Amino acid sequence: MDNIMIAATQNKGKLKELRQITEKFGLELISMADAGYADLDVEETGTTFRENSLIKAKTVAELTGKPCIADDTGLCVDYLNGEPGINSARYSGVHGDDLANRTKLLKALEGVPAEKRGAHFTCCITVYYPDGKTLVAEGICPGRISEEEMGDGGFGYDKLFIPEGHEESFASLGVEVKNVIGHRARALAILEEMLGQ
Ligand code: IMP
Repeated sequence: MDNIMIAATQNKGKLKELRQITEKFGLELISMADAGYADLDVEETGTTFRENSLIKAKTVAELTGKPCIADDTGLCVDYLNGEPGINSARYSGVHGDDLANRTKLLKALEGVPAEKRGAHFTCCITVYYPDGKTLVAEGICPGRISEEEMGDGGFGYDKLFIPEGHEESFASLGVEVKNVIGHRARALAILEEMLGQ
């Protein structure tokens, strides 16, 4: 078998992060566009991060005959019974409208005291090989939701998420902190260990 692996994402930032790991194992990670599937949009019909990352990785692996890596990520808020969860990107109804998503979340938690604002990010990364072998790495970052937007950096829900052990949001803390304690960093560390076995 050749050493090509396909990343089931159209996100260049994620591709870069994943490449930093796969290259250590002599794998050439190529994008969906490079594989000739620039417009493929796999429907996420699962009910968990795990299921959705598997659906994406398996669909692309079966289509291309190459090993494939996919992730699914989101924010789960205790007071909202785990919402927005797998619907994090489209919480407000418009896919990818970060500001609208954050505004809806703040409204849903209006008046909820700090001790009940617990939340966590989950990042699940799945590698699916054409022979059915599957690796799953899940990273979780616990914390709480702030009462208002904090900080200028980051994306998505970063301005509202205060990781455990800190008093500032991910947006204020910056990527240096996030790259150590963040959900994606944790999942990637687990994946790296798995690929090395
Ligand atoms: P995706 O699967 O990485 O596209 O993420 C799904 C949703 O979760 C999007 O709304 C993202 O903005 C949000 N999200 C994922 N990771 C993070 C993060 O590290 N910080 C803030 N929001 C995130």
